[in-house]
Amino acid sequence: MNAEEEAPRIDELRNRLREHGMRMTPQRLAVLQALRSTDSHPTAEELRGLVQDLVPRVSLGTIYRNLHVLVEEGYVRRLPTPQGSHRFDGDLSAHLHVICRECGRISDVHLEIDALALERVTTLTGFSNLSQRVEFRGICPDCRDLIPSEKCKT
Ligand SMILES: [Zn+2]
Ligand SMILES: [Zn+2]
Repeated sequence: MNAEEEAPRIDELRNRLREHGMRMTPQRLAVLQALRSTDSHPTAEELRGLVQDLVPRVSLGTIYRNLHVLVEEGYVRRLPTPQGSHRFDGDLSAHLHVICRECGRISDVHLEIDALALERVTTLTGFSNLSQRVEFRGICPDCRDLIPSEKCKT
């Protein structure tokens, strides 16, 4: 997949927001830039910490409002965690995620899903124009060190 196509440009977002009667505010830009500069998939609270470097005294409500707009406009991905909260990803390129069952941490997995698997889905089900959403779940290295139980052993 073409990475250029996958990362919509800031000035396009500015135009799109204007069409929807919204403006590109410094806070909105800071939220987007903070998300694009990290691969930690932060929560809204964690993101507030990152944005505060650019926009001091930004409120959590402002973070949530701007995240909502950016998700709606397709510039940010919202990722549910097993804990019921959400994390956010500014990287729209094709990649997979592995999510920790214990703490909800999300790491990127750069791994191609076999195109043959999609062909086989079509053969087996008759569905065409397939896309796929694969998500791995496990225990992250930090949590594995904290939990001495048998369930983490491989
Ligand atoms: Zn963990
Ligand atoms: Zn990601």
